[in-house]
Amino acid sequence: MRPQILFPLFAEILTLPGVGAKIAALLTRLAGPHIVDLLWHLPSGVINRNPVPAIAGLESGRTATLEVAVEAHQPSGGRGPYRVITTDDTGTLDLVFFHAKGDYLLRELPVGAKRFVSGRIEWYRGVAQMAHPDYIVAPDARDQIPSIEPVYPLTTGLTPKPLNKAIAAALTKAPKLQEWQDQAWLDRNGWPDWQTALLTAHAPQSDADLLPTAPARARLAYDELLANQLALALIRRAQRRQKGRSTAGNGDLRAKVVDALGFALTTSQTQAVAEIDADMAAQDRMLRLLQGDVGSGKTVVALLAMLNAVEAGRQAALLAPTEILARQHYRTLQPLAEAAGVKIAILTGRDRGKAREPILEGLRDGALPLIVGTHALVQESVEFHDLALAVVDEQHRFGVHQRLQLASKGAGVDLLVMTATPIPRTLALTAYGDMEVSRLTEKPPGRQPVDTRVLPADRLPELITGLGRKLAEGAQAYWVCPLVEESEKSDMAAATERYEDLRRHFGDRVGLVHGRLKGPEKDAIMARFTEGSIDILVATTVIEVGVDVPAATIMVVEHAERFGLAQLHQLRGRVGRGDAQSTCFLVYAPPLSETARQRLATLRETEDGFVIAEADLKLRGAGEVLGTRQSGLQLWRLADLAAHGNLLASARDDVRLILNRDPEMEMERGRALRLLLYLFEQDAAVRYLRSG
Ligand code: ADP
Ligand code: MG
Repeated sequence: MRPQILFPLFAEILTLPGVGAKIAALLTRLAGPHIVDLLWHLPSGVINRNPVPAIAGLESGRTATLEVAVEAHQPSGGRGPYRVITTDDTGTLDLVFFHAKGDYLLRELPVGAKRFVSGRIEWYRGVAQMAHPDYIVAPDARDQIPSIEPVYPLTTGLTPKPLNKAIAAALTKAPKLQEWQDQAWLDRNGWPDWQTALLTAHAPQSDADLLPTAPARARLAYDELLANQLALALIRRAQRRQKGRSTAGNGDLRAKVVDALGFALTTSQTQAVAEIDADMAAQDRMLRLLQGDVGSGKTVVALLAMLNAVEAGRQAALLAPTEILARQHYRTLQPLAEAAGVKIAILTGRDRGKAREPILEGLRDGALPLIVGTHALVQESVEFHDLALAVVDEQHRFGVHQRLQLASKGAGVDLLVMTATPIPRTLALTAYGDMEVSRLTEKPPGRQPVDTRVLPADRLPELITGLGRKLAEGAQAYWVCPLVEESEKSDMAAATERYEDLRRHFGDRVGLVHGRLKGPEKDAIMARFTEGSIDILVATTVIEVGVDVPAATIMVVEHAERFGLAQLHQLRGRVGRGDAQSTCFLVYAPPLSETARQRLATLRETEDGFVIAEADLKLRGAGEVLGTRQSGLQLWRLADLAAHGNLLASARDDVRLILNRDPEMEMERGRALRLLLYLFEQDAAVRYLRSG
């Protein structure tokens, strides 16, 4: 249960003095429903309202505060604004009001009086103007204008005044809390205590105080990161405590498969296999992430892990996010499994009735040791004789929930998650902080770099002519059509249009796949592309993950500016898989935004997925890389991983020390850290503690 000292922070915003229902609703939309959410809403700017000497020196676009004499009122003559003319020794400043109430203005700005005004300056036809001043006060009330004022991000319908007021009120609710950080670490970084950090972060004195590295901000970010890492560690520990089993085969089957491969494993493949073997042999449950670029050879590694289970007399399952991918995996794995004399089958939503029964039975009685499938595998009717390993491909398409569901189909099932999104190390820690990580960092030998070209859409005719020449030489091409935001339907429309256009050029050597096609139709077209009876495969992004046609050497992406960096990298990864020279054409519709230009430039410069992922992180921010922004789930309130990545690593180390020293967090610092967990709403993690 949440400790009492935090109750005031988790009261509703509506309970703050001076905050009514309308403002509360806006604040909730902006920051969240509780007072604590306002504390986390940090300033994005700072306004200096120290008076400036003279009208003549005012700069356009800046906020200025100065003393003026009120000369005259010019009420709005019909459409125009209401103007109050003011002066000083150096010039004239017009105070401008739209929809003004004249009597109110006459009271506030009586002709002949002196006033301090503060607001944003615009020069218009040689006259300085200030529209709707933020402050208008008599000279004796000058101290009502704060000399320095924070600027907060707003939302539509919310103005700065009520927001600043609400945040100021929220700050008075922030108690002194027992320190949960190590004092020596605070001293070393020059960080203040929590309450001071909070107050300081909300009272920036200059732009430097807004930097993520400013002590107050860094401290708060570290608190958030520490809470995150601590929660993940507690959850992971609880998962580990569910008993695992030791699975260690004798290597027979794996030796046969390695022989049948026709190539040697790369160094990082060998290392990943060794890491997985060690995890599976241990009594604990394996929770491992296998990270590697498209084409880096994850499937082989997964197969070897699966065979380890089979050697031990147990079963293994591979879960893929889409039908196409499941079939692709099956096609890859089937001949290799066969070479080792191991039975494998595929089970998807499409396999119903007659074909399905023997598979289910084989899984139930253990006659079928290996299975590949889609989420159909997770259904209740699927039972395993003795499932030892679950491999989940392309994890970000599955929830943690589904992972656990599959794992629940056996006792202490080991879990291997494969992802082709090379997530930066910093992000891997937060998204998959509950897992160990193996990385495939090198491509299999013999791969040629993909020649990447960026060109505007008006060069499409040229591109099509060039494509014709390549096709005549026997090349095959993917043609990916614009990602259309509104709906899959319009996505399809664009692809269909391009398909028809290309057919006019190339006849029936062109095929089309899109999300609306029924499974068998899709497979049939993919199969025709794989066997080479189609030369151009026009596609919506269904080919985004996993599809493996080594003969295809050309990739065209239309409206490349609409795709994310990671997505483009994945798409490009479809080519360059064989030993022939491949080309990727990124076609854009001008004008390019600055970030789009940088994205395309990055792709032209490198093929290293990890470098691309880091660049992606810089360009987009953490939430988007993880795909959380769209789902409205904001990962970080205070931390900025691009700036605080190193702090994340420290937090992880810190957590290790903390839990070693005080596993149930019962000592003084442990108790304080529980507060931290509650403060960042990690209540669920606290429940994993004894006497939590
Ligand atoms: P990923 O799943 O990581 O995208 P795959 O496992 O599908 O990559 O491998 C891509 C291709 O590379 C496959 O055709 C596979 O047979 C081949 N391959 C995998 N490992 C090696 C290796 N060590 N040497 C040569 N080719 C390899
Ligand atoms: Mg693969």
